[in-house]
Amino acid sequence: MDFEYPEAVRMIRDTVKRFMDEEVIPLEKQYHDDHLPKDVEKELIGKIQAIGMWNLSVPEEYGGGGLGALDMYPIREEIGKSILGAGHASGNLFSARVPAQLYGASDSVKERYLYPALRGEKTTFFAQSEAGSSGSDPASMETTAVRDGDDWVINGSKFWISYAHEADFGVVFAVTDKEKRNRGGITAFLIDRETPGWRAVRRIDTLGGPGRRPNELVFEDCRVPHEHVLGEVGQGFVIAQRTLNRNRLGMGPGSVGKAERALKMGVEYSEQRRTFGELLADRQAVQWMLVDSAIEIHATRWMSLHAAWRADQGEDIRMEASMVKVFATEMLWKVVDRMIQIHGGVGFTTDLPLESMLRNARGNRIVEGPSEVHRMAIARHLRRGAWF
Ligand SMILES: Cc1cc2nc3c(=O)[nH]c(=O)nc-3n(C[C@H](O)[C@H](O)[C@H](O)COP(=O)(O)OP(=O)(O)OC[C@H]3O[C@@H](n4cnc5c(N)ncnc54)[C@H](O)[C@@H]3O)c2cc1C
Repeated sequence: MDFEYPEAVRMIRDTVKRFMDEEVIPLEKQYHDDHLPKDVEKELIGKIQAIGMWNLSVPEEYGGGGLGALDMYPIREEIGKSILGAGHASGNLFSARVPAQLYGASDSVKERYLYPALRGEKTTFFAQSEAGSSGSDPASMETTAVRDGDDWVINGSKFWISYAHEADFGVVFAVTDKEKRNRGGITAFLIDRETPGWRAVRRIDTLGGPGRRPNELVFEDCRVPHEHVLGEVGQGFVIAQRTLNRNRLGMGPGSVGKAERALKMGVEYSEQRRTFGELLADRQAVQWMLVDSAIEIHATRWMSLHAAWRADQGEDIRMEASMVKVFATEMLWKVVDRMIQIHGGVGFTTDLPLESMLRNARGNRIVEGPSEVHRMAIARHLRRGAWF
């Protein structure tokens, strides 16, 4: 007897899987670099909204499906299978990217930003990292915001900011108390695209290809109204970490989806490719690559499900989120690398999705906190006795 989801969740998962198989995966050959043109993306999102699969994890009071992290897990695996499923300006094809802080904003901010974002009409960016200070250590950020009457004036720069060249608004983090920094001295601000005093000055080319070109931003006396402070003044760091923890949990199913698809390709290829008169699948060297991958995928799935369940119980999942982030992203890198090896030269070509998976898996070991920094965080939890 296997662990199984309630029927309602299975039906949603199957509908999402069908959509991915029929509408999204066939587009991969055409848009190999995880870069859907705006009109194609808009059309897909329209279809997803029409079949009622949009915003499944958004609270019901905001018109979403109200599914928790555990129920979303198998759905996220299906979305994660494609190199086109995740990482778009408007979200992950099936969901708007909405900064969680907006749910607690004033009615007028909700009217102008939250509801349009939920409908997929407005897109956003998240600006924490900087070039001059360490992205791993955002408490060292240098961008400042100073109160001036009813406004705040922001000066500084941001680096690596995804989607900022086109998004309608963003959440920008700035130091409001240099002494306190991450202990009450960093604040989150909502910045509208039309606000004077900031601009995206350059896009940064990366190994991730056209779909992964973040931006450098500059802020020069950028004036934002006090109403655009998200959460309490000084509490921005806590807010950012909460958002990042949620994203890190999503790395579990996203990685498992892709790794499982890659493994299936490896199994199928090894069952038909012969070298020296024997099937690859009969070689122990090949079998072990497949087996190690299956074990690691299985472990990641259960680790991620457990973390999702704990998140739904309202428990502190900071340590589990770090564990999932490290294990899932490193697992995906290893599995895809092995599957490319099994495919030989063809694995290295852009005819298969494996090379795109590998390039983006490499990035995932750095974004949302590099593996080393999460290991450092886990060590801190262990030393505090969190595990025992
Ligand atoms: C494609 C892409 C998109 C991104 N999108 C965004 C975005 O939308 N918004 C945003 O705010 N940021 C974004 N980032 C930034 C990303 O989160 C940072 O790159 C990441 O946090 C690492 O920061 P850093 O690059 O400054 O590396 P650094 O902090 O300088 O670290 C460099 C390396 O040093 C090592 N290291 C660091 N600290 C430790 C330690 N304590 N112990 C051991 N080793 C350590 C790690 O190996 C690390 O990779 C994006 C980055 C990329 C590449």
